[in-house]
This record gives sequence, structure tokens and C-alpha cells, in this order.
Amino acid sequence: MNYIYLGRSSDLNVGNGKTASAVGEVINQWVEHPEKQIYSNIKLKDVDYKQFSPENIDEVLETDNCLILLDELHAIVHKNHSIQERCKFHGEHTGLCYRLAQFFRQIRKRNNDSYSTCQTFGDAQAQYRQLMQRQIVCEKMRLDGDRLRKCDEDKCPSDHRHYIKQKLYQNFVFVKELPLFDPEPYYSLYDSFEIVKGWVNYEK
Ligand SMILES: [Zn+2]
Ligand SMILES: [Zn+2]
Repeated sequence: MNYIYLGRSSDLNVGNGKTASAVGEVINQWVEHPEKQIYSNIKLKDVDYKQFSPENIDEVLETDNCLILLDELHAIVHKNHSIQERCKFHGEHTGLCYRLAQFFRQIRKRNNDSYSTCQTFGDAQAQYRQLMQRQIVCEKMRLDGDRLRKCDEDKCPSDHRHYIKQKLYQNFVFVKELPLFDPEPYYSLYDSFEIVKGWVNYEK
């Protein structure tokens, strides 16, 4: 299954907990299925994983039983990029955009699961968008006394106690609100200010 974790369009450029949510889900899946190999395009700390980069996309395309984290899909392939098998816009990685689409397409066949994040659904490239069967819209909340309030700060003071509201959509249809997600155990596993490297961003 391809899962994509998103912010709401009205929360653009505001921390919304989508990466923490995706990292958390990958870890939870791995705890249940420790035989699964984790691939990630961002650095994970204290987690046994392999780097996912344009260099090894073919390796990942041929592996089974994996959990694949792909942070910031919008930074990897721009939403207006036109996907072509012989696309020359990825330096030495001809057709990288196409192979990524292929990867999403084969996800069930290979018993893999992918967990991408993207600013909003509209920021994902159109073909990729069609391949994401599950969408999870994330909203960062903080505990204020005994009430949950929306937190719209990007760099929060360390005394903020966060919870992430997650709404699950299936093929654009709202399914349900998921249990409130506690991101705290996962913040230390990755660097939230890491810039996704290794993938080239092209506008067209
Ligand atoms: Zn391309
Ligand atoms: Zn906060």
C-alpha cells in the first residue's frame, strides 16, 4: 500500500507533524514485522535501515517485504513535472521520475508499503497522487492545560506537549479520524530540519 502523509493546505509552511507521523507508522509496522527491511530517504537514528536514494532505486524496485519512507515527495519530483520513461532531467539517473512511479505501482505485488510525506496533496505530482491509495492529513495540536489546541508554530518551545490529529482518506473519500498520535517517542529518531538530499528537484 502507498500511504501519503500531508498537511492541510491552510497550514502551508507550518509544522504539522507529517514526518513524525510517517516515521512513527514505519517504526510501529516494523515492531510488528521485524523481518521487514526499512528504507528511508532521510537519516534515521538508532534504527536499522538502508538509505533510499536515486543510486539504489533499482535495488529497492526489486526487493520484497519492505517499509519505505520517502520524506518530502514534493521536493523529489515537482508537481508539474512531466513523467517520462526516458526523462533526462535527473542528471545521470535517466527516467528517475518514471521509475519512482513504477515503484509505487508495484507496491502491492512486492508486498511493500511506502510512507511518503508531502506538503499538501496538491503538491504531489499528478501520477504519484493517483497511486497513493491512502491519504493521512495531519494537524499538530498541543496540550494546553487539559485541552488540545492547534499549534501553528514551526519551531516550538521544548515545553510544548504535542499530539497529532490524523484524518484518514481513501481515494479522496474521508474514512475516519485515527487515534490521536503521540509524536514524542519519534522526534529523536530523525532530524526534522534535514534537507532531503540526493534527489534532484526539477520544475518542469
Ligand atoms: Zn523526470
Ligand atoms: Zn508546538
